[in-house]
Amino acid sequence: MTLREAIALFDMDGTICDYVKAMHEALEKLRAPGETFVDPFSLGDDGNNSRYKYLWDRMNLIKSEEEWWANLPIFPLGWEVMDVAKETGYYCEILTQAPKKNPASLAGKLKWIIKHEDKLGEDIDFTITRNKSRHYGRVLVDDYPGYFMPWLEHRPKGLVIMPDSKYNKDFKDERVIRYDGTNLNQVKEVILKAKVK
Ligand SMILES: [Mg+2]
Repeated sequence: MTLREAIALFDMDGTICDYVKAMHEALEKLRAPGETFVDPFSLGDDGNNSRYKYLWDRMNLIKSEEEWWANLPIFPLGWEVMDVAKETGYYCEILTQAPKKNPASLAGKLKWIIKHEDKLGEDIDFTITRNKSRHYGRVLVDDYPGYFMPWLEHRPKGLVIMPDSKYNKDFKDERVIRYDGTNLNQVKEVILKAKVK
């Protein structure tokens, strides 16, 4: 096996970028005096209620700005997994979801990758896609079950490392390892095993 064949795919938002923190800060700026703060990431199914339409409108406004994407802070959990993947001989690539109708996000994500090229590597491969499940990797590091479950369905030997977050706290699957910052040794062990499968 060559190094390039042991590919680890890394999601961006909620994995190596702190999308949630940046969104909370941006929403806070748009909050009216006296208005109760509503966390869109804690709403669950309530989020579909039309009374929260104003919240989605605000989020869309925030996400329409290229620089917002380009300036997302880093999310350390994903970087820690990337360090371990590199140490264990994986070829790391970025695999990120393209929002359907938001050209600014695509440009902003690329700016973010360039901004962090000292750590990601100047030649890092990246894919911005509508469908992650089409893309090959031995391991996928991703926080969102809605994206990684279709990927796993196509890959009987695939493995997912899921950075811990509020919105995935109840998710469980035997091929999904939650990483919460305390179990890096476990992550190392499972990705090493996945490499030689
Ligand atoms: Mg994500």
